[in-house]
This record gives sequence, structure tokens and C-alpha cells, in this order.
Amino acid sequence: MTDETIRMHAAQGLSRAIHPDARDHFRAILELVDADVSPGLVECPACGKVGLRERIDGDHACIESR
Ligand SMILES: [Zn+2]
Repeated sequence: MTDETIRMHAAQGLSRAIHPDARDHFRAILELVDADVSPGLVECPACGKVGLRERIDGDHACIESR
């Protein structure tokens, strides 16, 4: 199951759920799926290395800097 499928089911569940507790659960699923696209990770445009933003923006022994 892809993230997109999970998001679709969670969104449809949220739109149909009446019970507040159920809505909270669907909303939590949506947040988890969105968090999966980790904002803290970036890809170096020069060498393609993926890592924490602080490391990629700083010194990560990039091939371009050698
Ligand atoms: Zn790099």
C-alpha cells in the first residue's frame, strides 16, 4: 500500500466519520503519512547524498568540495 493510498483512505474515513474519537484517529493517520516525507532530510544537489539538513548544508565530505 502506498502512502497515497493510505492518505486517500484516511481522508475518506475522516470525511465520513461522525464520532469525534474516530475523526481524531483518521487525522492522526494523515499526520503520520505526511510526516513520512521527512522535512528534516534533504538530498545534496551536488552528490546526491541524503541526510539531515544540518549535515547536508554543512560539511558532509561532499564530492564537490574535494
Ligand atoms: Zn554533497
